[in-house]
Amino acid sequence: MNHTITTRFAPSPTGYMHIGNLRTALYAYLLAKSQGGKFILRIEDTDQERLVEGAQEVILKTLEMTGMDYDEGPGVGGEHGPYIQSQRLPIYREYAEKLIQGGHAYYCFCTPERLESLKDEKGIGGYDGHCRDLPEEEVREKLASGIPYVIRQKMPQEGTTSYVDEVYGEVTMDNTELRDQILIKADGFPTYNFCHVVDDHLMGVTHVVRGNEYLTSTPKYCLLYDAFGWERPHYVHLPLLMGKDADGNVTKLSKRHGAVSFQDLVNDGYLPEAIVNYIALLGWSPKETTEEFFSLDALKAAFSMDGLSKSPAVFDYEKLKWFNSEYIKRMPEEEYLVKALPILKSVCPENVDTEKLAQLLHTRIAAFGEIPERAAFVAHRLPMDCDLYTNKKNKTTPELCKTILEECLPLLECIDNWDNDTLFAVLKQYAADSGRKAGAVMWAVRIAVARLGITPGGATELMEVFGKEESLSRIRQALQELA
Ligand code: GLU
Repeated sequence: MNHTITTRFAPSPTGYMHIGNLRTALYAYLLAKSQGGKFILRIEDTDQERLVEGAQEVILKTLEMTGMDYDEGPGVGGEHGPYIQSQRLPIYREYAEKLIQGGHAYYCFCTPERLESLKDEKGIGGYDGHCRDLPEEEVREKLASGIPYVIRQKMPQEGTTSYVDEVYGEVTMDNTELRDQILIKADGFPTYNFCHVVDDHLMGVTHVVRGNEYLTSTPKYCLLYDAFGWERPHYVHLPLLMGKDADGNVTKLSKRHGAVSFQDLVNDGYLPEAIVNYIALLGWSPKETTEEFFSLDALKAAFSMDGLSKSPAVFDYEKLKWFNSEYIKRMPEEEYLVKALPILKSVCPENVDTEKLAQLLHTRIAAFGEIPERAAFVAHRLPMDCDLYTNKKNKTTPELCKTILEECLPLLECIDNWDNDTLFAVLKQYAADSGRKAGAVMWAVRIAVARLGITPGGATELMEVFGKEESLSRIRQALQELA
């Protein structure tokens, strides 16, 4: 393995995997894997107030389902563990103290009331550096007497701090805008700002890939690297994922646009492969090919950083649907049946040939979640709309259909081999014998049996799905309705 590139995915366990986060994970993964590098998973759970039960499992499960295997992380271990931040508290303390010794950080004993008083009427206000230069003696006394404290970073008070982002180019911050940020909180937990820098360094991360909400705070993180005398990593900030509003405007992708978590999309019947393929293209495009279909392996081979775009990408549910339908079509039948059959079995009556129905639906659905709706006409008898019997092309009317059904019923009643081929042959023969168009015969029977205009499959295929008893019963009912 070439360890010249190491990336990491560092999610906070929120309980669900937002598609934007999944895309971040994917790009971090691909950047490493496209170059034989290493991909690390780290759980950022130091915000104790926001802990959600079972949230870590959601992250692990998502990575497993999408095939993004990590070289180091919870469960698999590695030389830089533990990989869960709440288990690394002594490490952060040690490094915060190093910064204090080096004069880059300090203890701050300001009370919450004092900090509150620094805020303006809008509740905005930064820290004024009150404890920045406390005499050492005073600090020691305060610590000894157990006064609560935080540890703050000592920011430079003049000049600028810059770095070059791989996607956005140079980002520069005026140091006077930087507050002395908290590194260790009063409860002893580190802030994200601090611990992710320590971890990225200790874990050998060379490329930090993450959402662009961190673009402008990254100068602060660069200053931490500088204070420790560590080499700064490369930064790869990714543009926001947007959703289209009803009025055509685009805003940050959120629940009002539709399902936004990986799990919700999966529950709606989207395939992990299709989701991964689609989101890979939301902010990245391959060079030298117009190919749109990429397995994870193909993405590994094709990915490069210069294909990343800084313009916000709009998540288009229709496009995802299209990808998904293509993936379903390409699915080997056995694999498809494993997913489709349980859904059909749960909605259809027992005598229905669910396997045949599943086969009919295979090329006709865009998501597995559509199956119950598409099978509703099998699950129960829909209200009949007799206008459906009228069809221009086949020159059918309800009256003609009634005659056809009356004449076909006894022929169908005699069939023992209730399969598509036999049914088709019998109806064809009847058409020939009666001098009617085969299309008209099939139309009448299909509408009578399905009670629906557009169906997955023709008259005889559907009769095979329903079985003899149900098919004949539906035709008899149709005849009564046509009377
Ligand atoms: N825990 C942070 C988040 O989920 C990670 C940001 C980063 O990748 O540095 O937003």
